[in-house]
Amino acid sequence: MRKVLIASKNQHKIDEIKIILKSSDLEVLTLNDFEKMPDVEETSATIEGNSLKKALEISKWSGIETIADDTGLEISSLNGAPGVHTARFAGVGCSSEENILKTLKVMERILNREAKFKTVITLAKPTGEFKQFTGILEGSIATKPCGKKGFGYDPIFIVKNFNKTLAEIGEEKHKISHRALALKKLMFEIKKSY
Ligand code: IMP
Repeated sequence: MRKVLIASKNQHKIDEIKIILKSSDLEVLTLNDFEKMPDVEETSATIEGNSLKKALEISKWSGIETIADDTGLEISSLNGAPGVHTARFAGVGCSSEENILKTLKVMERILNREAKFKTVITLAKPTGEFKQFTGILEGSIATKPCGKKGFGYDPIFIVKNFNKTLAEIGEEKHKISHRALALKKLMFEIKKSY
């Protein structure tokens, strides 16, 4: 069975990736299988760059083919912000609740609430070879948080054509999300190369 390691310390992300990859023929390893996975600094100016950096550094360190996920929220009326700064929109080390409050505050008087989630998954080998897969989920920013499932910005992201937030749709998220779309492309690519 082909082994892949998930380069993430975010347990929510790890759980989602594992659920989505359940139907694949991959043996999925996580940081729990290693003593100390090093921290990778997200210093790139793009989501693609940070995803690549995480995948390359961790695959070189572990010697195992590695998957990295970098995700950003892009709000149209903010010219694509917070984008690459999504994790630290309310400040370095801030919580998801603080990011949500900051987003709602910035969007207070804005009528165009169109937004999208973008996930870039990188699959990298210790040799430095890599491939990237992008998933986009269209939606809009709610005026208040709704729902208790999911993580991060899920309570304020209304999914287009669902009229519910990602935190309200629950398990359905694993079928339609930005992350699911990117990982489906990865699974398709992996099947081709067998
Ligand atoms: P990163 O990809 O780990 O850098 O995450 C960027 C930011 O986006 C963090 O604040 C996460 O909580 C948030 N985030 C990542 N994926 C999702 C998601 O699927 N739903 C909501 N928020 C997310």
